[in-house]
Amino acid sequence: EAKALARLRRLPAETRDGTRVQLQANLELPREVGQATAVGAEGVGLLRTEFLYMNRDDLPDEEEQTEILSEMIAGLAGRTVTIRTLDIGGEKLASSLGDHLGACANPALGVRAIRLSLRKPDLLETQLAAILRAGAVGPIRILLPLITSVEELRATRDVLLRVWRRLKRRKVRMAKSLPPLGVMIEVPGAALSADALAREADFFAVGTNDLIMYTLAIDRGEEQVAHLYNPLHPAVFRLIHFAVDAGLRAGKSVSVCGEMAGDPRYTPLFIGLGVRELSMGPKALARVKDRVRRLDSAAAARLASEISMLSDAAEIAQLLDIFNEKQ
Ligand code: PEP
Ligand code: MG
Repeated sequence: EAKALARLRRLPAETRDGTRVQLQANLELPREVGQATAVGAEGVGLLRTEFLYMNRDDLPDEEEQTEILSEMIAGLAGRTVTIRTLDIGGEKLASSLGDHLGACANPALGVRAIRLSLRKPDLLETQLAAILRAGAVGPIRILLPLITSVEELRATRDVLLRVWRRLKRRKVRMAKSLPPLGVMIEVPGAALSADALAREADFFAVGTNDLIMYTLAIDRGEEQVAHLYNPLHPAVFRLIHFAVDAGLRAGKSVSVCGEMAGDPRYTPLFIGLGVRELSMGPKALARVKDRVRRLDSAAAARLASEISMLSDAAEIAQLLDIFNEKQ
């Protein structure tokens, strides 16, 4: 099997009927860059930047962040790197930021991700400056976590423009043009307002991990309700369907980067919905590529439209299983 997967590395991610799919890597640490290129990732669909802030008592300054991100981008040798701004809070904690998160009874519903960044503009400005400077090394996109409204996107774009102008004025080496600014679709409210977000965001990245959690009210880390965490719940499918349609209709790039994207069982659903970019942990890439290559995208589209008419999770699972056994 290892040999077959190695051969797969050189083959394109293309369905039997010629639909090209971009398979990208999710990265959490600098040392994963080598793994991503080794498995043939065509880009980075999600670079989580939490590592820069974790396991330390102070905050990383602009220089340090610029240096680390630049090195990662250089390692990716011209592949586009989607850098997500800080997504701390909820289940992801950093001691250096504990004071800013405050004490929340429900951390997942409290000051988290973009909410923290907008509350602490200096933190956001430092990070955006480092990202723009690292953009001198290779193509980048900027992704915002836990967006729930267009207002948050606008507020962040304002900060980005301010930082961009300041660096330009000082003639600092940075990205040649303003990078695309996209939003995570990982909260039901964002998925349901995807039409409005698509008018102002440059791209979407669907985060199924949080989308499932917030849709079904299941804590990602809570053992006792883990069995209720169902990616095939019809509500989850409908939200993804609505958001993907809105993004594609507006001509925006739409990727999926939650755990579902790295599970070949679900590949037909995403291809069937029209998604052409999937981002996953490097280890999952070969198996998803193999699934794409055995898939007929027209059949996948028929499957997705059949599933969109179902309202029962068990029926959805059954239809998908039968499809997966056939092709
Ligand atoms: C997600 O929520 O699906 C996602 C990709 O982001 P994270 O797992 O980092 O919250
Ligand atoms: Mg998330």
